[in-house]
Amino acid sequence: MVLFGYILFVNREYQYSFINQDIIGNLLNFLASQIIVYFIFYLTNGRMKQQQLYYEQIQQSERIKTSGQLAAAVAHEIRNPLTVVKGFLQLHEKDNSFSADRKRHFTLMIDELNMAEEVISQFLTMAKPDQEKITEIVDIKIVLQSVTDLLHSYGHLHDNRIELKVIGDCTISANIIELKQLLINIIKNAIEASNYGDLVIVKAEREKGFVVIKVIDHGRGMSEEEVKSLGTPFYSLKSKGTGLGLMICFNIVEKYNGRIEFKSLKDHGTTTLVRFPYCDRAKAKYKRNLQK
Ligand code: ADP
Ligand code: MG
Repeated sequence: MVLFGYILFVNREYQYSFINQDIIGNLLNFLASQIIVYFIFYLTNGRMKQQQLYYEQIQQSERIKTSGQLAAAVAHEIRNPLTVVKGFLQLHEKDNSFSADRKRHFTLMIDELNMAEEVISQFLTMAKPDQEKITEIVDIKIVLQSVTDLLHSYGHLHDNRIELKVIGDCTISANIIELKQLLINIIKNAIEASNYGDLVIVKAEREKGFVVIKVIDHGRGMSEEEVKSLGTPFYSLKSKGTGLGLMICFNIVEKYNGRIEFKSLKDHGTTTLVRFPYCDRAKAKYKRNLQK
């Protein structure tokens, strides 16, 4: 515009006479080229953003792969010594040369070791071979009902109530145990982030070809940086946290072609969205029959 102004009012006819001759045409020409440049910029920018998203996804899956390998290593390193110690303790427990008081200590130790074994096996579910996990058609409503029933008493510790709402037919294809593990982890995190007396809302509904599960809390929330770190092994801001829960969740979601997303605002709360492809029960049955 400055250039056109200069030619029109200052330079007059001395130079650029061709522009002066057809000022409107030239102006239109100029505007059209600007629009084309903007269009090219817009397309390139979109491409770049897509590339960046793709790169972030690759990074994430790389992180998940590393944690899987880490899990397998931990299995061998910790489970074996635990089993040996437990075996000896069980022997001593039956040995009559120990007093009843000592034996009670042994029982306690065995209980604690059982607990440790439980934690490890939970953590190691992702290192297990896939053959052990049967994929079936699961009704999200039933799974959510049993998971929220299980977590009700956990919520009561800080007076947090869980409200469940499932709309429509929400069925997906997944392994039910893994799915429960995923939902327990997410709802537990929501309860742990909530303030005393807060409500945690768990919703499920169909959205186009997907089943969307939303876990909403009004707790401490997270900054953008914190959200980016989610899923990193051992990333935890809790004094007694393991930082493994979400890593397992990311793994499970990816396995069933789902997506997990966090919408969070510091001090206001978090909504965790999990999206799985919808699986029509009748269609799946028909397909299975065809395969037989
Ligand atoms: P852990 O629960 O053992 O700390 P997780 O992997 O489940 O490990 O979670 C990692 C971290 O992510 C938590 O320590 C917490 O800081 C953050 N986080 C997860 N869910 C939420 C939530 N709903 N609200 C606020 N922070 C959360
Ligand atoms: Mg957790």
